[in-house]
Amino acid sequence: MLLPLWEGVRRSVRFDPSPQPPPARGGGESFPAAALSARLIDGRAIANTMRQALAARVAALPFRPGLAVVLVGDDPASAVYVRSKDRAAEMAGIAVTTLRLPGTTTEAALLAEVARLNEDPGIDGILVQLPLPRGIRQEAVIDLIDPAKDVDGFHPLNAGLLAAGRPSLIPCTPLGVMKLLEAAEVALSGRRALVLGRSHIVGRPLVALLLAAHATVTVAHSRTRDLAAECRRAEVLVAATGRAEMVRADWLAPGATVIDVGINRLADGRLVGDVAFAECAAVAGAITPVPGGVGPMTIACLLENTVTAAMRRRGG
Ligand code: NDP
Repeated sequence: MLLPLWEGVRRSVRFDPSPQPPPARGGGESFPAAALSARLIDGRAIANTMRQALAARVAALPFRPGLAVVLVGDDPASAVYVRSKDRAAEMAGIAVTTLRLPGTTTEAALLAEVARLNEDPGIDGILVQLPLPRGIRQEAVIDLIDPAKDVDGFHPLNAGLLAAGRPSLIPCTPLGVMKLLEAAEVALSGRRALVLGRSHIVGRPLVALLLAAHATVTVAHSRTRDLAAECRRAEVLVAATGRAEMVRADWLAPGATVIDVGINRLADGRLVGDVAFAECAAVAGAITPVPGGVGPMTIACLLENTVTAAMRRRGG
């Protein structure tokens, strides 16, 4: 018998969906680290389950979905991301074409490549790795991608449909966050969710998705006054600021669910999130690690978007 997609994962994640209300706090108060210990939301395991299910779906298709990944320049982090996307797509049975263009590529030349990929019937998904070198307008490139092949979900048509409550291709990272919450059985309806960050690729689409799941959503950003107090009201907190370990234990309501989108490289080489993991894990009800949390889900959702786009274009 086939198990529902998340069944195996749910069994491995214990979660108390009823966080306690935040206690009144004075300044400098220390936390009862031993009193609470968060369940780990294992993004790697959840993404693997998703990728296996996708590979089975792809194997049953009468065609091979095609993904084009475009990398311009030699940004080392982007090169690493592109390699892991390529590998994951191949493992799922998706045919990947990677275009590696020099950093000297002009905007006109890149636009011509995108136009060619738009017309290529074997390509179902187009991903242009960001950031682009200076001199190339990101918006011009995103706007040219055929919305039906926009597997990153960044095209204004797809962003607009999501904001209008009619989602089509959804940005991979926010979609991955929602799938993590679903897999961990975190109740969202009526819950107070705080999205820390308002970027077009993470924060804003996540607000739309959480609203669609009937959460009561607050979005905070660099101009928000008393960020810690805003965070303390949240039953679900998603951090996407790009500020290493900014969210501290005394910013959390005990029992809150914490999803850490951030990926920050410290001077000593360590990779950390936007959440101070060790101290927050002692207060939160459930928490994602970095690495091994949202990152693997982003890639799994890219594969899912590619298969979705392929099936819509070709039927199946
Ligand atoms: P952006 O820089 O585009 O946006 C950051 C957001 O955080 C902005 O809205 C900014 O506010 C807000 N912010 C920055 N500093 C503060 C602060 N001190 N207090 C409150 N708000 C603040 O980043 P992204 O959304 O692209 O990425 C966020 C993080 O997520 C990064 O670490 C990135 O590496 C990571 N990431 C991870 C992915 C994954 O797969 N796991 C995928 C994509 C991103 P304002 O708008 O006011 O400037």
